[in-house]
Amino acid sequence: MSYQAPRGTQDILPKDIYQWQTLEDMIRQFCYIYDYKEIRTPIFEHTNVFKRGNDASDMVNKEMYTFQLENSSTSLTLRPEMTAGVVRSFVEHKMYGEPDLPAKLYYVGEMCRHERPQKGRQRIFHQFGVEVIGVKNPLLDVETIALGWSFVSALGLKDMKVLINTLGDDESRDRYREALRQHFQNDIDSMCADCRRRYEQNPLRILDCKVDHDLAIMKSAPRMKDYLNEESKVYFEQVLQGLDALGIPYEIDDRLVRGLDYYTHTVFEVISINQEMGAQATVFAGGRYDGLVEYFGGPQLSGIGWAMGLERLLIACEGEGITIGERETLDVYVLNLSAETALYAFTATTMLRAAGYKTDCDYQNRSFKAQFKSVERKGAKVVLIIGETEMENGQVSMKRLRDQRQEVVALDALIDTMDDMFAEHEDDHHHLEEKRSI
Ligand code: ATP
Ligand code: MG
Repeated sequence: MSYQAPRGTQDILPKDIYQWQTLEDMIRQFCYIYDYKEIRTPIFEHTNVFKRGNDASDMVNKEMYTFQLENSSTSLTLRPEMTAGVVRSFVEHKMYGEPDLPAKLYYVGEMCRHERPQKGRQRIFHQFGVEVIGVKNPLLDVETIALGWSFVSALGLKDMKVLINTLGDDESRDRYREALRQHFQNDIDSMCADCRRRYEQNPLRILDCKVDHDLAIMKSAPRMKDYLNEESKVYFEQVLQGLDALGIPYEIDDRLVRGLDYYTHTVFEVISINQEMGAQATVFAGGRYDGLVEYFGGPQLSGIGWAMGLERLLIACEGEGITIGERETLDVYVLNLSAETALYAFTATTMLRAAGYKTDCDYQNRSFKAQFKSVERKGAKVVLIIGETEMENGQVSMKRLRDQRQEVVALDALIDTMDDMFAEHEDDHHHLEEKRSI
């Protein structure tokens, strides 16, 4: 019997984790500067948090991991996205009553969707996302896009494009849906099963179809922009003016409807045109939602948010030759020359760690040569060499590998001497200060 991670899931191994940790650090920095606060919600919710009424999206209809335990009437669903859970939490904790609206929130975590696994499409994947809830202002639509855009730009991504559209308010959208129904009514029977369902539930979704995408009837479909009322038009123009003011390039894509049913007004996708992305080109995507807070029992408040697939972000980076983060190195490796001195060496190791030096040592009584291989593999900057003479004299030998500077000092003077060795070199020193400030 051999065990493997389930299809569509992956282990992120220690050798790769620095990329993820660097990304997460950057996310926290960005959100800190924008004054967004992290929110963590449960990994599963009551199913009706995600499955709301007559939702026509694929995610809700086909991709959810829903389960019910024996002897329980409660249906639970592993979160396929975060917006619903965040808004549920916003209402449950009455955040709408807080003095400084909007609530500006962000999250990082795993989502689960039962999809056919491919490059950039997994069954468990990670999203970084933001939700700004409680105030409806086109500048907030612009701000959230700007946050994501400056984040991907800071990573060095260049092959990126913002596609944007508006779905207008309820009235505009109702008129548009009706126009779509009329447009498709004679052809719907020959379209895919999903489209037939969408026709009943929400004809807007038909425009999102990946199967019938190229049909002539699709191409001649009416355009949202012809059904927008004045208010919706003005709102969209203000969003675009904001993007212009910040110098964020965009393309208006009037076929963009997005996969979820709760969107109103602004919807957008930020895609990578790098060929590594294949069909999974969307790095982050989102939009405004007007009815969701009310759905969960809160007041009529609007929100806007997006979610970024971190696996896709990493593929986009790889495609553009961008490496994220650096392999970790050690400050000090403690070489121990005999079983008798192991405890002494371990004590020195512990002293170094207490002083903030990233330190490791040998635990297997290996030969000097084998231990030195570890020094090289781990990229240690300084080695301590501990043998019987050192122990008898209450000393340690230390050697800085950069320039072979060598010292034999009393154990008491270890930290002072180490500080000295590191202080001489800007880079190393910086590293040390960073470690100490934790
Ligand atoms: P797609 O059209 O590619 O299925 P979606 O519209 O279902 O995307 P969203 O629900 O908007 O995607 O999720 C936001 C982002 O999360 C996507 O743009 C993508 O980067 C990422 N994402 C979505 N589904 C997956 C998945 N199965 N595996 C990896 N990343 C995903
Ligand atoms: Mg999807």
